[in-house]
Amino acid sequence: MEIAVTYLLNSGFLVDMGNLLLVFDDFEDSQDIVGQTLAKNDYEAVYFFASHAHFDHFDEHILNYQQAACRYIFGYDIRRTKRGRRFPQEKVTYMRPYEQWEDECLKVESYDSTDVGVAFRVTDKKTGKSIFHAGDFNWWDWTGETAENRKLAENAFRKQLKQLVGMKADLAFFPVDGRLGSMQDKGVREFIRVTDIGALITMHDLEKSGWKPGAEFFPAGKRFPVWSPVTPGEKKLVEMTGGITVK
Ligand SMILES: [Zn+2]
Repeated sequence: MEIAVTYLLNSGFLVDMGNLLLVFDDFEDSQDIVGQTLAKNDYEAVYFFASHAHFDHFDEHILNYQQAACRYIFGYDIRRTKRGRRFPQEKVTYMRPYEQWEDECLKVESYDSTDVGVAFRVTDKKTGKSIFHAGDFNWWDWTGETAENRKLAENAFRKQLKQLVGMKADLAFFPVDGRLGSMQDKGVREFIRVTDIGALITMHDLEKSGWKPGAEFFPAGKRFPVWSPVTPGEKKLVEMTGGITVK
């Protein structure tokens, strides 16, 4: 089974699973990729996810899709925002960390973030295939910070990472932010060590750092395809048994 993934911007992705359309953290879509996809195709169900309220993850333009959307699934912090209140509340599910929500098509589990909001693990109930989207969960190791703050960031990351030990996902989205410099893949390296993922798509790199995994990136005995999109509109087919091919 293949799914088509299109990069929107930052942590924004459109995930076309054939019968289902999932849109994650669409804060800006200057090419109207989501609108055009909805106009061209028929889906059994369409879901919009926003991991948290930060402007680079959540924007109210996704309100334009409320006809097509069967549900908006938001991090709990969005409930308190003016932008969040503009959404039809009967169509919104807010999730706190470590909650579950499901309907006939989809099962959603939430995890904690190291920033605000949540990370999502989404399972297509028909195929059993699962996708993890980290939101802003990451080891935010800013080298300009004090040693104390850097230790706090590490502790917060390690605490939440424990909850992800053994987590399986056919595809995972995880931040590799170029602003972190040489620390940019510290979080993802730990993440792939403790989880069991089939493919990795990196995100949250508006710097366009050109990050690529070296041979030493993969833990011993683990190997999976990695895609680091740079330009909005880039699209790949992801084989849900562990492969990414260019379309
Ligand atoms: Zn962010």
